[in-house]
Amino acid sequence: MTRIFSGLKPTGHLTLGNYLGALRRWVETDQHRADALFCVVDLHALTVEHDPARVRRLSRQAATLMLAAGLDPARCNLFVQSHVDEHARLSYLLECTATDGELRRMIQYKEKGARAAASGQSVRLSLLTYPVLMAADILAYGTDEVPVGEDQTQHVELARDLAVRFNQRYGHTFVVPKATRPPVAARVMDLQDPTSKMGKSHESGAGIVYLLDDADLVRRKIMRAVTDSGHEVEYDKELRPGLANLLEILAACIGGNPAELAPVYTSYGALKKDTADAVVELLRPLRERHAELAADAGYVDAVLAQGAERARGTARPRVDAAYAAIGLLPGR
Ligand code: ATP
Ligand code: MG
Repeated sequence: MTRIFSGLKPTGHLTLGNYLGALRRWVETDQHRADALFCVVDLHALTVEHDPARVRRLSRQAATLMLAAGLDPARCNLFVQSHVDEHARLSYLLECTATDGELRRMIQYKEKGARAAASGQSVRLSLLTYPVLMAADILAYGTDEVPVGEDQTQHVELARDLAVRFNQRYGHTFVVPKATRPPVAARVMDLQDPTSKMGKSHESGAGIVYLLDDADLVRRKIMRAVTDSGHEVEYDKELRPGLANLLEILAACIGGNPAELAPVYTSYGALKKDTADAVVELLRPLRERHAELAADAGYVDAVLAQGAERARGTARPRVDAAYAAIGLLPGR
């Protein structure tokens, strides 16, 4: 059976980008067709300036939202990365497989490093090695497919390269994974700056739709989205990124095609209104279910404990095999 692994970082409140790019597919298709593991990748949240209490809160909130969105613990495995030691154990072996040069070429390292430096913070070493830990997340489980947004393509490529390199050098140990992307909205853009990706750790709250924003706030953010000063509604990602972003969001919500939706609209206002309505309807059940589940932290914790137990059992034999293959004396 196909094995799927993917994760969300507790670096901020989950966004519409996280939902359309990743979580929604996990719920609607991945958990039904594969042996799927979904993870709150909390160790990755430590790669940038963080507040310990906030990371803890956001980790539980992310898990609660994943359940609220429809991940079913009877169909998939939901757990927290730091509860399974195998991720960090394998990451070290992969650090001994990756090169300094290939990590420094990662686009997200350059972008996030520049952002940290611009705000006067030093760049943590773990920000550089983060894609190696992500490769460990994926490879530990013998993952075939990694459903992610477009921004993660380069990191999944690295995981592939490391798997191939390790296998060639030390003998076949890892499955070589591939990324899968949603057909539309693989890269939802910031509503206030449609040339940058909507990201949960970004400052511009006004350009980001958070999954837990109330309906009025979602409407306000979408109605105030930055567009160009033209009048015709066209789908052109290069020349009209703001409009293209709204068309993609609308298409993703109602199951349409952005290029075909464009001629339906004669004004920007009507497009924004329909997009806002569609997003509000899409998120309504999720918010309602989140409110119920948030009142039952015991249930969420029990799901995570059970998930971690199963994940350890799945990952350990492959990670042990990697330790033996690379030349370490078996000790347990
Ligand atoms: P951060 O700003 O901390 O990197 P993020 O919003 O990028 O947060 P991640 O936890 O890095 O979220 O990514 C979780 C998943 O959501 C990944 O599969 C990623 O590709 C996807 N994703 C993130 N942002 C978007 C977006 N704007 N559009 C589509 N998919 C996205
Ligand atoms: Mg990200």
